[in-house]
Amino acid sequence: MTSLPTRTLTRSNAQFQRAVKRLPLGVASSFRYWGEDRTIYVHHGKGGRTWDIDGNTYVDYRLGYGPAILGYADDRVDAAARKGMEVGGVFALSTERELIVADRIASMVPAAELVRFSNSGTEAVMAALRLARAYTGRESYLLVEGGYHGLFDAAMWMSDMDGWDLRSNTDPELVPYGKGVPPTVRQLAHITPMNDFQRLEDMFRRHGDRLAAMLIEPIQGNCCSIMAQTAYVQLARALCTKYGVMLIIDEVKSGFRVGKSGIQGLMDVQPDITTFAKAVANGYPIAIVAGREEVMRMFRYGGASHGGTFTAHSVSLAAAEECLCILDETPALETLANYGERLKTGISQILDARRIVHSFTGHPSMFGLFFAETPPDNYRDWKRSDYSFYDQMARFLHDLNVIVEPDSREPWFMCEAHGLDPSCLTDTLKAVETAVDLTLEHIGNKAKAQ
Ligand code: PMP
Repeated sequence: MTSLPTRTLTRSNAQFQRAVKRLPLGVASSFRYWGEDRTIYVHHGKGGRTWDIDGNTYVDYRLGYGPAILGYADDRVDAAARKGMEVGGVFALSTERELIVADRIASMVPAAELVRFSNSGTEAVMAALRLARAYTGRESYLLVEGGYHGLFDAAMWMSDMDGWDLRSNTDPELVPYGKGVPPTVRQLAHITPMNDFQRLEDMFRRHGDRLAAMLIEPIQGNCCSIMAQTAYVQLARALCTKYGVMLIIDEVKSGFRVGKSGIQGLMDVQPDITTFAKAVANGYPIAIVAGREEVMRMFRYGGASHGGTFTAHSVSLAAAEECLCILDETPALETLANYGERLKTGISQILDARRIVHSFTGHPSMFGLFFAETPPDNYRDWKRSDYSFYDQMARFLHDLNVIVEPDSREPWFMCEAHGLDPSCLTDTLKAVETAVDLTLEHIGNKAKAQ
């Protein structure tokens, strides 16, 4: 019998009881609610670790869903942000640093000929879709199953995989993410399964001349890091060109993480429009809409509207300048990808020793762990994997001081600080080994009870 971990969450539990009286679900974003007695309140983060208000220390692979590319409270970026504070915030006027940051982005990402700033991934994708519509004069758009593009009505349509019967010959139903998304918006959204070349061609044949944009995350940062085949993204590029559709590559998660020029650089595909956010400033709120000059010039009076009171805030901009400089000029991205490789190897050794079939998806800097022999090629395949093992293991990992997303659809994120602190790897692997054994025992006990 593996002994059960004894993490205490007394203070977090008490905080939850107080917070829930004022904050819906006791949190500021519904994804942070993990149940009445398991919701964690953070004291602070540093490097690859997070401390909660009970004093528990976690190796953190959620990293705020990706932003902390270097690690929490990075001294270099924070010093730059402090200098940005002295500038004064926002002015409804421009500062010189905007061009410095835009030049850096353009030099790292060939498709980013022109650059605009936003505050969040959602805002950036909203602007990108509006730009595509303004440029093409069309309204409809194409989504890819398993993609996530933020919380705005047009993007809040997904294939209902939970409700889908694997054995049926029908497609999963297109449903809204929740209540409050007007069903009329649904008429403009189309969806296609990733890596199904034939379906993509059919989609363009039927709807191509009415589509303003195709939105794709070639590495699905909200769906297990399932990857599009390079040839699939190339086909999307060719079809978009043929039908006059804007290819929007959403790199809100993969950008400045999987490589200096993102997943588009690794796949050598040039979108018309790209969005970046998470890793741009190591967690300071800033996002990017970038793209082809002719398209981006639609951001003008009489063209597509773009703006926002907090856009290009001096603190975020200064942090972005420093963070992008580090990512561009130091081996930080190699350090964290290398760490991801070592972590995957260590996890595999633990699972192989117990003959547990598994595979990994994505990139070592943001990977998904699967309990299936071959990793999923699209969202429908995820349904075929044993994600219940993952879900149980994730709960034990939390008890053992490792933070991963409780839902197997969220990848594990690496940061530079993980790679620079050898104890992150050893602590994690020790916890994974125990969590796997506890999960096996849990499953065994459940089977006995049935
Ligand atoms: N696009 C992608 C690919 C994302 O992963 C996310 C956030 N998870 C968004 C857009 C929305 O970004 P934000 O949460 O900053 O609004």
